[in-house]
Amino acid sequence: MSIELIANLSYILAAVLFIFGLKMLGHPNTARQGNALSALGMFIAVVAGLTAESIVSFEYIALGVVLGAVFGALASRLVAMTSMPEMVALFNGSGGTASLFVGWGTLYGSEINTFTAFTVVLAILIGGITCTGSIIAYAKLSESLGPLPFPSGAKQFPGQRIVNSLLLLAMVFSCIQFCIEPSSESYWLFAVLGLALVLGIMAVIPIGGADMPVVISLLNSYSGIAACAAGFAINNNILIVAGSLVGAAGIILTNIMCKAMNRSLLNVLFSGFGAAKQGKTIEGDVKPISVEDAYYILEAATNVCFVPGYGMAAAQAQHVVKELGQILEANGAEVSYAIHPVAGRMPGHMNVLLAEADVPYEQLVEMEEINPRIENVDVAIVIGANDVVNPSAREEDSPMYGMPIINVDQARTVFVLKRSMASGFAGVDNPLFFGENTRMLFGDAKESISGVIGEFG
Ligand code: NDP
Repeated sequence: MSIELIANLSYILAAVLFIFGLKMLGHPNTARQGNALSALGMFIAVVAGLTAESIVSFEYIALGVVLGAVFGALASRLVAMTSMPEMVALFNGSGGTASLFVGWGTLYGSEINTFTAFTVVLAILIGGITCTGSIIAYAKLSESLGPLPFPSGAKQFPGQRIVNSLLLLAMVFSCIQFCIEPSSESYWLFAVLGLALVLGIMAVIPIGGADMPVVISLLNSYSGIAACAAGFAINNNILIVAGSLVGAAGIILTNIMCKAMNRSLLNVLFSGFGAAKQGKTIEGDVKPISVEDAYYILEAATNVCFVPGYGMAAAQAQHVVKELGQILEANGAEVSYAIHPVAGRMPGHMNVLLAEADVPYEQLVEMEEINPRIENVDVAIVIGANDVVNPSAREEDSPMYGMPIINVDQARTVFVLKRSMASGFAGVDNPLFFGENTRMLFGDAKESISGVIGEFG
């Protein structure tokens, strides 16, 4: 058997592992094995790639592997769960940049036909957009770029779309010119690269606030497509397969998020949601509640539903939430956890946290499941969720109009656990806090819940 055949068989095995791994990632019970399976696939693909291709120098590759492994291991250990989207943004940027270099490197040393030129320019173009777009997305999410502060909101200026359209046109023109006469020294190639880097910045600048996770998922898809193009450029099957999988998975995830917010992708990309904090100011009385009073109400409740949001992740309250859930169950209450598809900062964020705390998967209910029976819930405990329970989404004049929410305001009593009256990620005030049946339990969610647990003795 030739080395090439072994490598190709290994690629098929790696592709199968990727596909099964992805499938297993779809359920919390199998997600860990799915991740391990995909990692094994990647390991096989890398080893096969290194044996099949004519590698000039292993020293740099070994150095890259060591540096990458150290960086990856440290990042996965040290980065807080709440900062995952930022980390994913950086990883997407790295993927795009790597594909850009792979595509570019193809131009050196071999004869370039029009098809290869096309795939190279595609890898450079999409890789370039992904690179700078991801850096801006990272900066917006972390509100800093290195030592400099960076505003997280959408930034729009007059004529922005015209400028972006012109950039796009100039880029397409440069791509065509390069493909007509492909060469590593072509000025058109540098024009494509420069325009792609600028377009990446310009495309992400007008998007902000709650739309950033959608952009990150879209950039994830771009990084996959760039890898796929690079795979065609260097004629590497596993890069084509892996790139297509990432590209498709990213676009599916983007679509899921848009649907959950009842928005179209075009609206996310171009509406500038979050450019200004809109929405009418709400007036009314807020009814704060003490930990003791919350205990008395919970003690008498027979049906309790937890509704977690980003604040639960920020407070790392998942373990005490589970503990309170168990206490309430022992007290005779039916306990459930209602999960909104975009609660937190990434899809599945709440599922992951609750799974980490060993909350039984059967107690998790989706928004569509809980809403029809929310009126039977004695106490809905909103833990650091805000936008996903904001009833103003039902009002036509609200900027959030149309976003499906968990209708906690229709439960018999609602406890809202948060630290202040601040609005959520979308920057829209929440009338829930002023509801007749709402009690605000102000403070860090973990401390508040620990306090209630303490009352149960
Ligand atoms: P929000 O970001 O709307 O609200 C979180 C709330 O948590 C804040 O109001 C904050 O209030 C509170 N909070 C923060 N820290 C703590 C703490 N330590 N203890 C108690 N409360 C705390 O979260 P949601 O989960 O309701 O909504 C998610 C948002 O993200 C939506 O706008 C959604 O569209 C967006 N999004 C999510 C995606 C996803 O995939 N999950 C994708 C795209 C967008 P306070 O400061 O007063 O404590």
